[in-house]
Amino acid sequence: MSKPRIHILALGGTIATRPDATGAMQMGLGADDLVSAVPLLASVAEIEAETVSRVGSHSLSFDQLQALATKIRGLEADGIVVTQGTDTLEETSFLLDLLLDLDKPVIVTAAMRNPSLTSPDGPGNLLAAVRVAADPWVRAHAKALGVVVVMLDEVYAASDVLKVHPTRINAFASTQTGPLAALVEDRIVPMALPVRDAIVAAKKHLGGAKDGKAAPVAVFWMSLDESGRLLDAVTTAPDHLGYRGAVIGAMGGGHTPERATDSVLKLAAAIPTVVAPRAGGGPMLRQTYGGPSSEIGLRKGGLIWGGRLHPLKARVLLETCLRAGLSRAIVTEVFDLFG
Ligand code: GLU
Repeated sequence: MSKPRIHILALGGTIATRPDATGAMQMGLGADDLVSAVPLLASVAEIEAETVSRVGSHSLSFDQLQALATKIRGLEADGIVVTQGTDTLEETSFLLDLLLDLDKPVIVTAAMRNPSLTSPDGPGNLLAAVRVAADPWVRAHAKALGVVVVMLDEVYAASDVLKVHPTRINAFASTQTGPLAALVEDRIVPMALPVRDAIVAAKKHLGGAKDGKAAPVAVFWMSLDESGRLLDAVTTAPDHLGYRGAVIGAMGGGHTPERATDSVLKLAAAIPTVVAPRAGGGPMLRQTYGGPSSEIGLRKGGLIWGGRLHPLKARVLLETCLRAGLSRAIVTEVFDLFG
């Protein structure tokens, strides 16, 4: 039986670093270097490898990811593996998930330990990602899975995966839902399919996002005794400092400090503003607490309710909606789908 054709696209990140003369790690390796470090890949798939960029993921842009999605749409491979840095992987994978609608696997992977360290995880993660992309169950369920992330022998839904630690090797988790599959020996063991109704429904509105123009979204984290002055700065500045939307990382089930609430409401009147849980995701309340700074008051005041999405994922979705040119009413409808 012929092996599946898997196309590897390398963007940069720790997985692609090498030491400079001072010993500092710099972006440098390309896709061919990554592939030649893992001879076993050839036994799993027919590999095509392409270096897209040599950029740390902390410096990637929406435009670059939009261009990557266009490139992926044009590939004839049976599956695609993207390698990048870990810093923004939870955002980039979700953005690709929103922009792509393919019935073949799209996998994002990375590394926490750079190639100069003992037991770097890059080669193992790349092999695991290609195994996942080539796996018959994954290929049969590619549409139902959406874009997935493979790290340390686990498969995660792009909409749920989070980077939960800045340095340790097991830095990724889907804290709400758990992994979708595990790699054991050379097998993929399926464990769950993601609930994607909200994403599928959202995508119906997102057609124009593929080549939409920049629509920057600010994130504000609410914290003890926050005054709201930073929000006022955006609300009152000419052209809102260029921001077209905002996400508020709110406390608990959707709460903001009372002293900041006037600023929150004014911001929401100026630009579409989404409330998402700073607790890291999970459905928020809608109708429990009264008063101006809790869910009932904020919702009445025009805040868009972000549902179960982590604030960083809500930001990706909001910018994608705005790039697609969606009205505030449709944006509200889209976020409403997320619970
Ligand atoms: N900050 C770099 C990046 O995200 C390196 C971190 C990493 O890959 O783990 O690309």
